[in-house]
Amino acid sequence: MNEKVGLDLKYKNTLDYARYLDENDSLKHFRDKFYIPMVNGKESIYFTGNSLGLQPKTTQDYVLNELEDWANFGVEGHFHARHPWVSYHELFPELLSEIVGAMPEELVAMNQLTVNLHLLMTSFYRPTKERYKIICEAKAFPSDQYAFQSQVKLHGFTPEAAIIEVAPREGSQVIDNNDILAAIKKHSNETALVLFGGVNYYNGQVFDMQAICRAAHEAGAYCGFDLAHAAGNIELELHDWNVDFACWCSYKYLNSGPGGVAGAFIHQRHIADKTIPRLAGWWGHDKENRFKMEKEFVPIPTAEGWQLSNAPVLSMAAHKASLDIFKEAGMRNLIKKGKELSGYLLYILKDINSLFSEKIIEVITPNEENQRGCQVSMLMHKDGRKIFDSLIQQGVIADWREPNVIRVAPVPLYNRFEDIYLFGEIIRNTLQVSK
Ligand SMILES: *Cc1c(COP(=O)(O)O)cnc(C)c1O
Repeated sequence: MNEKVGLDLKYKNTLDYARYLDENDSLKHFRDKFYIPMVNGKESIYFTGNSLGLQPKTTQDYVLNELEDWANFGVEGHFHARHPWVSYHELFPELLSEIVGAMPEELVAMNQLTVNLHLLMTSFYRPTKERYKIICEAKAFPSDQYAFQSQVKLHGFTPEAAIIEVAPREGSQVIDNNDILAAIKKHSNETALVLFGGVNYYNGQVFDMQAICRAAHEAGAYCGFDLAHAAGNIELELHDWNVDFACWCSYKYLNSGPGGVAGAFIHQRHIADKTIPRLAGWWGHDKENRFKMEKEFVPIPTAEGWQLSNAPVLSMAAHKASLDIFKEAGMRNLIKKGKELSGYLLYILKDINSLFSEKIIEVITPNEENQRGCQVSMLMHKDGRKIFDSLIQQGVIADWREPNVIRVAPVPLYNRFEDIYLFGEIIRNTLQVSK
């Protein structure tokens, strides 16, 4: 047992123990609400809910209802559908508020993530000759990098001068929070916007959003977050943290289908501020007078005022099917189970490492519970590709990133502790070591 020093003794690397955890999981019945993809005739171990969440079994009915109403009512469905389309988007703020920690009037479901990022940067990235910098994480998701670069250029600056990336220190895989705060301080007089992911897509690191936001405000800058990997995964208190704006997609942890409608948050103190510029469209216009088709744009005094187009009802129906499940499960319960799943996975990986004299798997996701959600990223020092291939062959759906990182996300709505145990066994068998 000596080599197991340092392992969390509350866990065991056995099938019985994993099943015991599943038995005692108060959310276990939620798995039955989802279609689990089959591989080679049996249920896969689906660990890519961080990339495309699974389909709830109720989604088809929600979408079919809208198709039926369209067939039955035609244009009258805007007012006579079971959920009238003219106000369909109004179903979402309430459902999203628990997930992102915001007041309903601060929330709107609209567009796609990168579109929302651009719309919100139009409002909150307003550089001047003195203040024009954006501080962000190094290796942000490519779409975000392109958005930052194009915004900066649109305002006549160069990305080299205007984009400040905070990177991990030499030899580290995660960004030190102190380095983020120090960078904000260092560039405080020139910074217009601080914009981070809530969770880094690559290593699964959760950023200290509250501290980052406070530092940004002290520097006189706005602060926004891309919550693509955070919404539906970790605790968010956007209102209380004083975040200026945020946006996210709904097809990752929020299980709303490929290209599903995205979300946006604008803090209460900004929603009715008419001095904030925005790109406007008719769906953001005062509802009472929208159909008068008048010339002057009068924004709705809530986050809805940032809408451009009428609601994409079919994709919103899928969104609603999933968010109704989130409501039933409770975000707090999901967060708790998500951390337990990733905690158990970290334990299993440490146990595998303990069978070797050198480190085989380097976890690049922080170990601390408040710095990770469901996702665990593994830098493979030995047989990475071989292990990944045998995972795929044996029905695990995971994600490979060059040069040798495997990303997995056991998610609380439909993954089991047993999935994690079996995942560990496939790795151990591929490395041909016994326990
Ligand atoms: C998934 C993801 C995107 C994808 O953007 P879309 O506009 O939805 O295609 C953008 N940014 C981040 C951080 C992501 O994780």
